[in-house]
Amino acid sequence: MVMINIDRLCARINALAEIGRVGDTHGVCRLAFSDEDRLARDHIAQLMHTLGLAVSVDGIGNIFGKRAGQTERSPVMTGSHIDSVRTGGRYDGTLGVAAGLEVVERLNELGIDTERALVVAVFANEEGARFQPDMMGSLVFQGDLDLVQALDTIGIDGTSIRDNLRRIGIAPTTRTPDKAIHAFVELHIEQGPVLERTGATIGVVEGVQGISWTEFTIGGSSNHAGTTPMSMRRDAAFVACDIAVFARRLCSAIAGNQLATAGSMSVFPNLVNVIPSKAVITIDLRNTNEEQLKLAERRVLAYAKDAAASDGTTLDVRTLARFEPVSFSPQIMSRVARSAATRSLRMHRMPSGAGHDAQILARMCPAGMIFVPSVGGVSHNFNEFTRPDDLEAGAMVLWDVLLELLNERDPASTAGI
Ligand SMILES: [Zn+2]
Repeated sequence: MVMINIDRLCARINALAEIGRVGDTHGVCRLAFSDEDRLARDHIAQLMHTLGLAVSVDGIGNIFGKRAGQTERSPVMTGSHIDSVRTGGRYDGTLGVAAGLEVVERLNELGIDTERALVVAVFANEEGARFQPDMMGSLVFQGDLDLVQALDTIGIDGTSIRDNLRRIGIAPTTRTPDKAIHAFVELHIEQGPVLERTGATIGVVEGVQGISWTEFTIGGSSNHAGTTPMSMRRDAAFVACDIAVFARRLCSAIAGNQLATAGSMSVFPNLVNVIPSKAVITIDLRNTNEEQLKLAERRVLAYAKDAAASDGTTLDVRTLARFEPVSFSPQIMSRVARSAATRSLRMHRMPSGAGHDAQILARMCPAGMIFVPSVGGVSHNFNEFTRPDDLEAGAMVLWDVLLELLNERDPASTAGI
């Protein structure tokens, strides 16, 4: 059984974590299309060149490193992302990229030629922390998001992606990978507590829950906190809080493990003795069941309208992101499970709680994911950690699944069950 080089894999993850490292924490801040993102992108592109990959970049800044196959059959793709949230950990996304490159290096070392080419992809702006929607790079590559529209996106700092790409000097190369992909497999940390709780090392990911992000902007009226009777207030922050509390309480009334988060709230003018004239709040709703997710969206929206009207405030509603639940390829799931069984790794079948590029790739080819445990279920946090032996296990399962797919002659959708 082929083993990957875990010391090299850890060294690569740790080297990348030095780029955009936050103080003396273990975490990183590499917001999409920032200077830190640019440095990390250069680092990976350089590594791809060193490994002999043909490197290309598309219009939104996705990076592709291709190791040629023996035939012209459609390539197998793996990879993930290297952008982070502001309080990011060192494994989120980078594991999938570093492990893909480790597979390439092992293939090179062992002198293995494969039927199909292997492409390691680094998808741009997966996190959506600066520019929304998230998973933007894979959406543009897959085709459901128009490139021009994506480039015109304005971020939280008021700048556009187009301006940032120019600023950090990212331009598309002439040739980018064909859209015909045989299969896509992404290794990622779980970012939740399920694997640790079940004692499993490998998560066989069945799909991704649906995600709905909505921004509510409430317009009220600023006035003196001491002289304005309660009955005469138009308090924007009160309405925003009311919506947040409703969304949280709604979860127990909706089937299918409904989740709700009011993760961002801004209040204006944000002064202790002034009734807020404006509040902006985001509500993140998730469910593995599309019908239940739609129901939650309808109920939150209806409540927000009522709450705003009853306090005499205005309400503007904007959808920031919307993804339906996704099911991954049963063939890839069974390959992941088979590899884990062969290597005597305990596995657990589970949905993904977070969004991932693999769910976008699932629209264009058979796609799947492998999860490894996150200690304490902690992610999007400087203290995110996955034990080296779990990283190794995940990378070896990735190796097994990719090797099978790379030498598969038939279309993946009809083979391998
Ligand atoms: Zn990620």
